[in-house]
Formats: sequence, structure tokens, C-alpha cells
Amino acid sequence: MRIITLEEHYTDRRLMEANNSLSIERPPMSPEQQEVMDFLRKRAFPGEQLLDFDKRIAFMDEQKIDMQVLSLTSTVNDGASTEDAKKICRMANDITREHMDEYPGRFGGFATLHLMDPKEAADELRRCVEELGFSGAMLAGRQRGRFYNEAEFLPIFEAAAELGVPVYFHPAFVPREVQETYYLSDAYSYVVGSELSSAGYGWHSEVGIQIARLILSGIFDRFPDLHFISGHWGETIPAFLERMDAILDQDITHLERSFSDYYKEQVYITPSGIMSNDQLEYLVKVMGADHMMYALDYPYVEVGDSYAFLTEANISDEAKELIAHGNAERLMGL
Ligand code: CA
Repeated sequence: MRIITLEEHYTDRRLMEANNSLSIERPPMSPEQQEVMDFLRKRAFPGEQLLDFDKRIAFMDEQKIDMQVLSLTSTVNDGASTEDAKKICRMANDITREHMDEYPGRFGGFATLHLMDPKEAADELRRCVEELGFSGAMLAGRQRGRFYNEAEFLPIFEAAAELGVPVYFHPAFVPREVQETYYLSDAYSYVVGSELSSAGYGWHSEVGIQIARLILSGIFDRFPDLHFISGHWGETIPAFLERMDAILDQDITHLERSFSDYYKEQVYITPSGIMSNDQLEYLVKVMGADHMMYALDYPYVEVGDSYAFLTEANISDEAKELIAHGNAERLMGL
């Protein structure tokens, strides 16, 4: 069975150097923040695997993955100027294309965009799709604390709709004030609070909120051909669809359709390396296999045998084909 995976990250020394060479004033790290950095480096920072494409190809061959759609692991330092951010994003997109050329057929790309200037970001997305052959854009977290449903970001979604490519929403660290109010506590360590605010829960719920806000802002009425991709099995939203339809009904949203109609028709979900059979079976029932795709979050997650996870799952053969490759081929022309 052909396997295409969609949330597969890399970085490149040229980009690390470009980011490091920016002159950015950073507040000094507190001892607690330093503790978290040390912890993350020890546990979760797979530096070499992000850089090494021989290792990546070996992993793909071992896991029977035909194609990864590449994305940069993190975009640009938040304090960068618009010009610097734009330059680094262009560079990242050109490097993604280099990898696609070096290993024909093995890689696709999601555009890395600088959102300080959404109109320019939309132009860069056009370049990425029309000239570099990319499959869409990946947006991380929020833009300096702003959610993407604000009107200033419309040009990006307008471009994605016109180009017929999806936008993949990826988590990023939540703003400091959110971390302090919601996640840090004297009752447990700073590392626990920090992990709770990020990969343990918080940044996932923030992506769920991001997509809910976009839907409620009427983005899909405005762009009926626009599609989103949400990792981590939908970042908590699918379990709440009945509730959201009941509370956020059309009497108060004044949208053309119910919340769940938009979600089930214009959002696709992926596992992002959360290898849970229960989630897979449940979400085939909720979303339908025609709105699910595959993603392993390489190289951040130990996925075991990801081929067997899908091909031996307790779902129909037709569903497996759609999730493994059929939907990605249809949605992104891969
Ligand atoms: Ca990821």
C-alpha cells in the first residue's frame, strides 16, 4: 500500500546559521526556563535526525513510507524583522525544493511562511505552489499572539483557496501569559507545567481553538474551496462536535452551515504520530475515512511499526487506502 505522511519535519544548517546570525534582543533565561531547555535537549531534541537525509530515507524505507511531505521544524525566530523573516522563509522553501529534487518522488513540501506581512506571505505561497511544486502551507502557533481568524491574515487563506492547496495548522509554544495563567503551578515542577502548556496538552488545545475561531469567523463561507489539516487527531475538536453544534448553533453564528458540517467537510485530520488504535477507529466513525490522512511527526515520535499500525487496523480496506494515500493524492495532487 502506498504510504504518504504529512507532518514530517526537518531543518538545515544554513537555516540554523541564518537564524542564529539575526541580531535579536532576547530577555535572559530564568533558571527555571534553563531547566526546561536542558530537559528538552536531553529528552526530545532529535538534532541529527532533523538534519540527516540519509537517516530519513533509511527510516522511510524501513517503515515502507513512499513519500513524506516536508516541513521546517520551526519557522523563524519571533523577534526577527519582517525582511529577515521573509528571507529565511524563502531560503527554507528553496531548501525543501532541493530535497525534493535530490530524491525524486520521495518528498513533497509545505511552505514555510512569514506572517508579519500576510500579503507577501500569500505571494510566497503562490511561488511555492506554482514554481516549487509544493502541496500547501504549514502555519505554526499564532502570529505574535494573534489568531489567524483576524482580517489581516485573509490573504493567505484566499491564496490557498485559489491555488487549491490546504493549510496545515501546527502547534507552537503558547504565549507566556497563557502559560502562567493556565499551566504553571507551585503544586508541581516548572518542567511539568511547561510540558503541560506545550506538547503535553496546551499547544494542542490552542490549535483546536485556532481552527474553531477560523470556522466561527466564517472562513469557509468566504472560501468554500478552502481546506485545513489538523494534526494530533484533530487537536481535541472532533470529540466536541455535537456539543459545539448544540451550543454554537446557527441562530447565534449566522453561518450558512453547522459547525460540524464545516469541520467534517473542510478539515482533514492526521495522527501526527499518536499511534492509538482507539482514536483511529473512533475518528473513522466521526470524520469518515475520506477526511483522514497519515502523519508520523518524524523525527519527534517513536512510532513503532507505522505500516502495520495502519494496514492491520480494524477498519475497512477502503478506509486504509484513503488514509494511507488516497485522500492526500486527491487533496494535494500527490
Ligand atoms: Ca510536529
